[in-house]
Amino acid sequence: MSVQTPVENRSTHHWQRELACAVRTRSALLQRLQLPEASGSPGAADAAAADFPVLVPESYLQRMQPGNPLDPLLLQVLPQDAEMTQLPGFTADAVGDLQAELTPGVLQKYHGRALLVTTGACAVHCRYCFRRSFPYSDLPVSAEQWEQAIRTIQDDDTITEVILSGGDPLLLTDGRLQNLISQLEQIPHLDRLRLHTRLPVVLPSRITAELLDMLQHTRLRSIMVIHANHAAELVGDCRDAIERLVGSGIPVLNQTVLLRQINDNATTLEQLSLTLINLGVMPYYLHQLDRVQGAAHFEVAEQNGRELIDQLSARLPGYAVPRYVREIPGATGKTRVGL
Ligand SMILES: *Cc1c(COP(=O)(O)O)cnc(C)c1O
Ligand code: SF4
Repeated sequence: MSVQTPVENRSTHHWQRELACAVRTRSALLQRLQLPEASGSPGAADAAAADFPVLVPESYLQRMQPGNPLDPLLLQVLPQDAEMTQLPGFTADAVGDLQAELTPGVLQKYHGRALLVTTGACAVHCRYCFRRSFPYSDLPVSAEQWEQAIRTIQDDDTITEVILSGGDPLLLTDGRLQNLISQLEQIPHLDRLRLHTRLPVVLPSRITAELLDMLQHTRLRSIMVIHANHAAELVGDCRDAIERLVGSGIPVLNQTVLLRQINDNATTLEQLSLTLINLGVMPYYLHQLDRVQGAAHFEVAEQNGRELIDQLSARLPGYAVPRYVREIPGATGKTRVGL
């Protein structure tokens, strides 16, 4: 019952090579964008980068504006001194993941849905990420752990949907994904397979014809939830990848994190929703930032978030307004903010 297929490492795909060449230091990132590095001794931002390393694929970098220190894509991935400031209320396990673990790699917080942590690895390191302090490693999940995870889902027939998450599930090779899907397909009570992935946005070359074929040819209804925070992300090869995805007939939804200085104004959020809708992607959630250690400088007050949603509701078709939610440990679902 192993989903490990070591042989497939022989051929490296374009997306794997692109990931191998990603920018991995703060200084390389600044240099590429023709931005000055703060002079002097290593500062808090370097300590932050030592803690949670810089990782930015070329494609994402290409969509940043050189010379602009406030570029909304750059601000999502550039370590800042503020990350090392400890603030009360910002903790390592802000969303209660540890207490929701059924068995290693399987989280269940909500009825009918189980979340499978397929890998700890991501193709980009978002500085605000709630997983930045979660004790994942980038090592592949062991065969034994996979089996235990599958068995746990098999044993609970109230689960009808499996959410592949991580990390980023699309960092699994096609072979491993196919293996996993084949195992899940055999569980009679499962109807849906949802993938939560940022790869269409940060590493669009991952959206290959083979991948789409795999997701179309399973008994399970595939659904993809992507993660874009700004319309400036949805251009070039990212736009092409989303068009391929939507064109394949797989429903595509988007989630956004509300981030200070990046998308906390009505015009930016309106542009994001309209760009998504025009591509055929439904805005799903606007997430209030999880209060994770090191991310406090990204936080937008809920009162401001509510006002932004009111402004969006006054300007956009109803289906283009995402649900503004936050995660409260122990709740039975994502909690609507301001209702
Ligand atoms: C967010 C989340 C889900 C999915 O919630 P939906 O409201 O169905 O999108 C499922 N499981 C866990 C553990 C989650 O954190
Ligand atoms: S891609 Fe998602 S899980 Fe990975 S660092 Fe970014 S927000 Fe976190």
